Amino acid sequence: QAVRDRISELLVLTPSASDRLRLERHIEASLVQAIERGELFLQYEPKVRLADRQVLGVEALVRWRCADFGLIAPGLFIPLIERSGQIGLLTDWVLDEALRELAVLRQQNQPLLMAVNISASDLKGNLPARIDAALERHGVPPSSLEVEITETAVIRDIERAADVMAQLRQRGVRVSIDDFGTGHASLTYLRTFPIDSIKIDRLFVQHIDAQPVDQAIVRGVLSLAQSLGLRVVAEGVEDRSQLDRLRELGCEQAQGYYFSRPMTAVQLEHYLRNDADGAD
Ligand code: C2E
Ligand code: MG
Ligand code: MG
Ligand code: MG
Repeated sequence: QAVRDRISELLVLTPSASDRLRLERHIEASLVQAIERGELFLQYEPKVRLADRQVLGVEALVRWRCADFGLIAPGLFIPLIERSGQIGLLTDWVLDEALRELAVLRQQNQPLLMAVNISASDLKGNLPARIDAALERHGVPPSSLEVEITETAVIRDIERAADVMAQLRQRGVRVSIDDFGTGHASLTYLRTFPIDSIKIDRLFVQHIDAQPVDQAIVRGVLSLAQSLGLRVVAEGVEDRSQLDRLRELGCEQAQGYYFSRPMTAVQLEHYLRNDADGAD
């Protein structure tokens, strides 16, 4: 299995044109099968409050362990699934699985915020109704679900995005802008946009300890967010010096490998129990 994962990793990193085509065809043709065979699974990455290291929520990230190609990263298969028009199916599976796990966590006395990533095309389906159904199926309150949508997806159709987000917020579902700062959006959309939080892209966090420009950008985002009443989460924190700099700048929440790699549900439950015991 490990060897096969390694092979698929190489395939994904340096695919020959024909391997790549074979993989793309396979992905587009076999999502339904993958779901039926249980090849999809979620990993969860904690969102941490910097003041006390409390885990406030987790972000669900989908993975595909495929019989023929091994583990495939979402950065590779999500665009293909989007292109093939099947993203709604994937999003529904992710929502269902994430909320099932959220219900388990709540039963274990871990009332976290569960964040799920959605795609631009999800805005065209009846997303609010699908979310209602999933929330009801698992008996979890709307206010414990957060939907992350990238800035790039938002600017593809700002009016539709604003409409769907408003419907979600009416229900109490939280809405977050992902990869903030990478979509080349005009900032004016933030003025009227019905959102709760923005996630500063890893791009700006990566070199924040050494790059005055990145510090200036993050400082600007934080002050903009503060005046608009938005929460800010920094993405992709990998080391202590990035964390220290973010705290100095007044950032209150972050996620990244420094705190934890994305974990399976079992690992997450273990991690949260240890966290509650005060271990680090
Ligand atoms: P994203 O939503 O911005 O998620 C953050 C990505 O950065 C994740 O990659 C995560 O594993 C990775 N990451 C987190 N912390 C660190 C860090 O400290 N350093 C580094 N280098 N990376 C970090 P992943 O899981 O490969 O997902 C990539 C993208 O695929 C996501 O970006 C999201 O746009 C998309 N995606 C993942 N799951 C789903 C899903 O269920 N539905 C949809 N529509 N998109 C998804
Ligand atoms: Mg995200
Ligand atoms: Mg992101
Ligand atoms: Mg990203």
